[in-house]
This record gives sequence, structure tokens and C-alpha cells, in this order.
Amino acid sequence: MQQNPTQHNSTQYISTRGGSEPLSYVDALLEGLAPDGGLSVPATMPHVDAETLERWRALIYPQLATEVLALFATDIPREQLARMTAAAYASFPSEVVPLRALDGGLTLVGLSEGPTLAFKDMAMQFLGQALEYALERTGSVLNVLGATSGDTGSAAEHALRGKERISVFMLSPRGRMSAFQRAQMFSLDDANIHNIAIDGVFDDCQNLVKQLAGDVDFKRAQQLGAVNSINLARITAQVVYYFWAWLRATDAGGPAEVSFTVPSGNFGNILSGLYAKQMGLPVRRLVLATNENNVLDEFFRTGVYRPRSAAETLATSSPSMDISKASNLERFVFELFGRDPRRVVESWALLEEQGFFDVASEQPRFADEFGLVSGTSTHADRIETIRSVHAATGEVIDPHTADGVKVAREHVEPGVPMLVLETAKPQKFAETIREALGIELEYSPELRAMLEAPQRVTDMPNDPDALRVFIEAAALKGGTVREITAGAP
Ligand SMILES: *Cc1c(COP(=O)(O)O)cnc(C)c1O
Repeated sequence: MQQNPTQHNSTQYISTRGGSEPLSYVDALLEGLAPDGGLSVPATMPHVDAETLERWRALIYPQLATEVLALFATDIPREQLARMTAAAYASFPSEVVPLRALDGGLTLVGLSEGPTLAFKDMAMQFLGQALEYALERTGSVLNVLGATSGDTGSAAEHALRGKERISVFMLSPRGRMSAFQRAQMFSLDDANIHNIAIDGVFDDCQNLVKQLAGDVDFKRAQQLGAVNSINLARITAQVVYYFWAWLRATDAGGPAEVSFTVPSGNFGNILSGLYAKQMGLPVRRLVLATNENNVLDEFFRTGVYRPRSAAETLATSSPSMDISKASNLERFVFELFGRDPRRVVESWALLEEQGFFDVASEQPRFADEFGLVSGTSTHADRIETIRSVHAATGEVIDPHTADGVKVAREHVEPGVPMLVLETAKPQKFAETIREALGIELEYSPELRAMLEAPQRVTDMPNDPDALRVFIEAAALKGGTVREITAGAP
């Protein structure tokens, strides 16, 4: 067993709003949102020294995941963690996260080799293992209720299928997902997966989830929870691939700085990069790329955070980045304010009151202290970038990754490798690829079989009572040792 000086300490989790007792990793994982409405963050960030980093060069991905996650999940025995990371990445190719050179000195970091062809598998597969472990340890069950417009729902279902103590109720807007996304979810025939197609749009689905999760008695009786992007296990599992990519992109004897560009929506992925940097990984820039829904680019350029309404949120050709507010931004603001929860509470109160908050005076620190810079990409940029990358290298990149490549090119610095995170495979977005390149993508035999498999879905009107009745009948029961609110909104 490897010894690491930092691992003797236990990492506790506190709330960004200061109103809860420190919790262990497993407890924070099941708790979800802190009781004061804040997000859980490490009370002290674990640190990795240069010597340890060098030793990690020899590890394969699941082993590296065990090392990094052991710094966060100090209440899970190491043998258990090793078993969980091996199981989480068993369905990936042996090179779990491959790096590929692109033109213009960029390198792609392949995060989309998992079962649903998007980077969410990287964290969700570990979350499935962590939840199963936590529920077994506490003798409880969890009924996950969620709404999806595509990627999150399929990643969650593929990670949680067949788990004994978990069932999944996933709402999606009927007829509004791509054929590929529908097939990924509805072809699953596991008894614990319930796909529900709602007569409405994504916002209707999300409102139904909020109504039921907001009904405290119902939620408690049905042991409802969520696995959304604020989930602590997801954030920590994502930290691993920043270390992995750095180890592959630099030579022994470093330190050598690299920069990352991250196609962003809810600020989950790039937050994990910030944590890696704070842990001591030599990262120069974290470049945040948005699409036309550029609320985060606006924030990082001006210091004014102004979330938008659902009606102001555009439907774009990089749909997984179509967000109106970034649920993980609070964790960055907590760091920005020197971890002073009072200032976080103040800012979120202002947000409620006036629809924005303004930290323009702190804006220079975003880049200087945290390495965070940003840029926006449009539909025309995506198409042009997919074309230029294809022309130069023969590679086909997906529209979200194209947003990243476009913005990365604006931030390349001489002598600093620029690593762009590939957040999805192009096969998921065949229509945009057709528009850009005029080609039809090849599908593997496994994907073709999935696309042609029989589908299972329950149609339902946009009616909370119908949903209640359905959940009451199908939810897992019993084993309640404690209240479960994993990631509840
Ligand atoms: C979810 C998603 C994103 C955005 O990631 P965040 O963690 O929400 O910032 C980007 N690209 C793809 C393909 C996604 O599925």
C-alpha cells in the first residue's frame, strides 16, 4: 500500500454558507445540499507535493483515481476505494482518458470514452459506486428523481442501472430529445430504471421534480434524492483527469505548467480543474468556454453575475451547455471571498433581490490568482472549427468540444501546452456534423444495436399527481436508517 503524508488527515466538508456542522465525505454525499442551502466544500483543500505527483506517473487511471479520491474520501477504506474505481472505469477502453494532438499546438483530452459518449460518465460511474457503498453502509435506499434534456439522464441511468438500493425516475420532454439520446435511455431494460416522457418541455420536467422534491413529507416518505451537477462525488471524481492529463502532457522532472480549456455549463467540470490547481497541480490557465448562453463568460470578463430566465436561454447546437445559471459557481465565489461564508450569503441575497451581484473590483484576481479566463463561441464558430480541425487533422470533434477549441485558440501562450477537454463524441450530434462536414458518421456495431433495440418508456401528462401515484407504486421501500437527501434541489 502506498503511503502518502497527506492521507493521515481526514478531510471534512463544510457549507459555502457556513450554517452546518462539518461532515465526512459519505455523509456529505448523502446530504446533497447543505441544510443552510449552501454547497459542501472541503474544509481544507488536500495538497499533493511534487514528489507524490512524480510517483503517480506510473499509475494506470483507476489507480490514480484511488490516490486522488483517497485525499477527499478519507472515511472510505482504501481497499474499498480501489475496488470502486476499478469497477467505475471497467466499461471504458484500457486507456480510460486518451490524449490526442490537434493542429495549432492544442491537445485533446478524451473524456468521452464511457458508455454514453459524454464526459459525464467519468464522474457518474464513480458516483454510482460511491452511492451504492454509502447506502450499504447506512442501510438505506435511494429513489433518484431527475429531469434531463439528454446527457445527464443517460449518464445517470447507465451508472445506476441494476443497483440494488437505488431506483431511478428520469423525466424527459416527450419528442424533444434526439433519436440517439432516446435510444441511450429508453433501450435500458433494467427493472430499477423508470423512463417517464412528459407531455411538455424540459422546464416542465424540472418543475415537476421541484414540486415533488419540495414536498418534504413526500420526499421523506419516498426517500427521494438527486444526482445533479452539484454532487460532491461528481466534483471530486472529475479532479482525477486533470492530474491524469498533466501527467501525460509533461515530462518527469517538472514542474511544467499546462493550461486547460473547458466547455462549460454548470461550472462543474472547470471547478474540478480549479480544485486540482489549488491542490498543487501546476496549472497556468483554466479557460472557460461558453456557447451563446454566455452568462459565465460575462461574469469572468466583467465580474457581474447575472443569471438568465429560462425564456432567455437559447437552444443551441451545443445543447449540453445551454444553461441560464451555473449551479456550481457558488463554490468558486466561496474561494474568491477567502472562504468567508457571510459574503457568499450576502451575494446570493443580492441575487434574489436584484437579479445580479457585482464583484467587478475583484475581477483581476480571477486570472491572477485562480488562472480563470473565458471566451464565447457561436454556432458559426462551431461549424467553422469542426471544419478546420477536420481539414487539418482528419479528426471529427463534437460541437461542445468545438466551442472549447475555438476559445482555446484565443488563449494559447508560447511554451504552455493547451489541453482542451473533449466533453462528447460527435456521434451524439450527427446533425451538426452533417451540417459542418456533409458526412455521415460511422456507428460501431454496439451503437447500432442500441439504436435498434426495443424501447421502454412511460408517457405521462404534465401532472404532479400522476407522477406521485407512479412513484408511490414503483419506489424502493424500507431500510430507512436516516433521511436521504442526496443532492436534492
Ligand atoms: C454537461 C456538459 C457540459 C458542461 O459541463 P459543466 O460541468 O456543466 O460545466 C459540456 N459539454 C457536454 C457534452 C456536457 O454533457
